[in-house]
Amino acid sequence: MRQITLSRDTLHRGALILVNALHKAVWDRPETLTAVGNGVQLERQAAALLEELMREIGGWDSILPVSGWRSAEEQQAIWDSCLQENGPEYTRTYVAVPGHSEHQTGLAIDLGLRQEHIDFICPKFPDTGICGQFKERAADYGFILRYPAGGEALTGIGCEPWHFRYVGVPHARIMEENRQTLEEYIEYIKQFDSPLHPYCIRIGGRAVYVSFVPATSENTIVEVNEAAPYQISGNNVDGFVLTQWT
Ligand SMILES: [Zn+2]
Repeated sequence: MRQITLSRDTLHRGALILVNALHKAVWDRPETLTAVGNGVQLERQAAALLEELMREIGGWDSILPVSGWRSAEEQQAIWDSCLQENGPEYTRTYVAVPGHSEHQTGLAIDLGLRQEHIDFICPKFPDTGICGQFKERAADYGFILRYPAGGEALTGIGCEPWHFRYVGVPHARIMEENRQTLEEYIEYIKQFDSPLHPYCIRIGGRAVYVSFVPATSENTIVEVNEAAPYQISGNNVDGFVLTQWT
């Protein structure tokens, strides 16, 4: 076992950061942005997994990346113009308050069915056909439908069938199996705060353990098994999620 020391600012980094009306996007310019087409950029790991998924289903023939990473200024401009064109109610339902958009993390992407007119705020992404196939396979590549119907009270955003968020494997699969939004998952996983009782899931015949380490006021120490792959992500709230493969 090895002890990893995490500084306080790493709390705001990683695939599992929760960004919503209550929790700001602290790191809003990812170091590794990669183009996914149509001028859209994503954080490197999210982009790689999206490409793999699209390759598997032949998705890019019919699906267009509409919006990925946005700077704080771009988010502000979208907010302002939506407010002007559509009014406050519509804007609050579909556009995150500047500083609080997942798009600022580079981990979120809006996708739309290729067609003549594409609505930039609410692109068309039906449940059927190629879009349906994308939704079915998304969790296996670490993506979740971030704002599902019925989740409005938890996420603070209206149902958005086009907005996908990269959270990583196995977390997307666990959330899908448990029917949890990211808000619920971040709360749920906190009970697994002992390395002796992690959450366990089997992915491709391998056991993967997920546990929670509360952040301390200064540096936080996390114990990992270096003999196997692991990942640590801040939750952007109060701790770290350790994912350990066996
Ligand atoms: Zn979006």
